[in-house]
Amino acid sequence: MHKIDMGLIEMTLDVMKYVIGRVSEVEHPIGKPKKYEELKALVGETITEKGVGGEYAFNLWKEHLSKANVPVDHPRNLAFVPASPTRAAIMFDLITAASSIHGAYWMEGAGGIFCENEAMKWIVSLTGMPEGAFGVFTSGGTSANLSAIVTARENWRTNDPSHKGQKGLIITSIGAHSSVKAMAKVADIDVHLVDTEDRLEASALRATIDGLSPIERERLFAVVGTGGTTNAGIVDDLDGIADICAEENLWFHVDAAYGGGALLADSVKHLFKGIGKADSVTIDPHKWLFSPYDCGAVIYKEPELAKQAHSQQGSYLDIFKDEGAHGFNPTDYQIQLTRRVRGLPLWFSLAMHGTDKYKEAVERGVELAQIAGKMIEESPYLELVREPSLSCVLYRRKGWSPQDYTDWTFENHKKGFALVAPTKWKTGDGFETVSRFCFINPDTTERDIEMILETMA
Ligand SMILES: *Cc1c(COP(=O)(O)O)cnc(C)c1O
Repeated sequence: MHKIDMGLIEMTLDVMKYVIGRVSEVEHPIGKPKKYEELKALVGETITEKGVGGEYAFNLWKEHLSKANVPVDHPRNLAFVPASPTRAAIMFDLITAASSIHGAYWMEGAGGIFCENEAMKWIVSLTGMPEGAFGVFTSGGTSANLSAIVTARENWRTNDPSHKGQKGLIITSIGAHSSVKAMAKVADIDVHLVDTEDRLEASALRATIDGLSPIERERLFAVVGTGGTTNAGIVDDLDGIADICAEENLWFHVDAAYGGGALLADSVKHLFKGIGKADSVTIDPHKWLFSPYDCGAVIYKEPELAKQAHSQQGSYLDIFKDEGAHGFNPTDYQIQLTRRVRGLPLWFSLAMHGTDKYKEAVERGVELAQIAGKMIEESPYLELVREPSLSCVLYRRKGWSPQDYTDWTFENHKKGFALVAPTKWKTGDGFETVSRFCFINPDTTERDIEMILETMA
């Protein structure tokens, strides 16, 4: 389709130059959004019958549009769950895009899927799940959670046909990520929330199950534990929950979308004891495994069950399933058919750097949280809400109202200095507004933390 075209070569070089510039910058602007009207006034009409030309459009991106984003890899962007993709992974993301690999079936994507599976084997090994456990890369934690919950539900219905017309029920805690509730809605499943944002203990789960009505107990098919809550980095009692799930014949899903990377860190790995007993696990490489967006992963103890739930049938798809196409077909294990081989950038970066580098980078995030915790304890005007957990720190500025936190966040962001957002923490019956750090980027320095805390004085 493409003839050699000098204009195209020039554009390619311009794009590469821009990308090299972006990934070699020590510090790029923190960025801030603009209103639609402002952006429209700056760039005007861009989609026209004749096209505005590559150079012109690219300049609009460089001058105006790129600046209206808040990139998550800034070392003082500590809001939500930031990210910090490796240069190697970013570069290979370009190769992934340029290679046009349809990552659904081995027949079309063998080379790319081979690489993904090598990376996946390593991720599975971190969980300690038994021989035979395996997974696929997804667009993120949300679709990984959905894929796992649907697999659990289909398995529950297959095992007992009386469940066919019954609405399923799962138990999780209010510390679980919003996507668990959102995906339960997609799959038309009810959610019973254990009322704790702190560690979900086996005893609380036991009491919750015992408190269900006989009908509810009949509808209950799975428990979702969290391996590192998004808000506070709390790891549930995975070991105890796994035992109860085994006794009660319930599917045990662990959502470690954010926290999963911490399985690499010797200092905190013990908190995840029991994760190897899960039926399914979600881990997002685009959070704490330094992959570019978007890249999630779902792992199953028995992948065959996921295949029974997700394998798509269609006469035009049969060719991929014939003898000659034998191999691993990622589409069979999650909700997507056509998919980018989104684990490919992670594979290249892992292969290039080795897993020790990943371990060090994750440990640094944990260490930064400990360092921040110490600074907060030593400050006369600050206070920890709870001990730092994984790479999350919740803390309060003594005497501040919720509005003070909001003003402070916007002030620091407006100055282009930092993005640190407040959150809420459950205290008894109410919610307290507090400040929160989440560390991912190993380039964040102690001085960065110190400077941010100083702006609260
Ligand atoms: C971020 C997160 C998710 C959602 O993942 P996406 O990749 O944003 O879809 C799910 N669960 C937990 C615990 C998370 O931290």
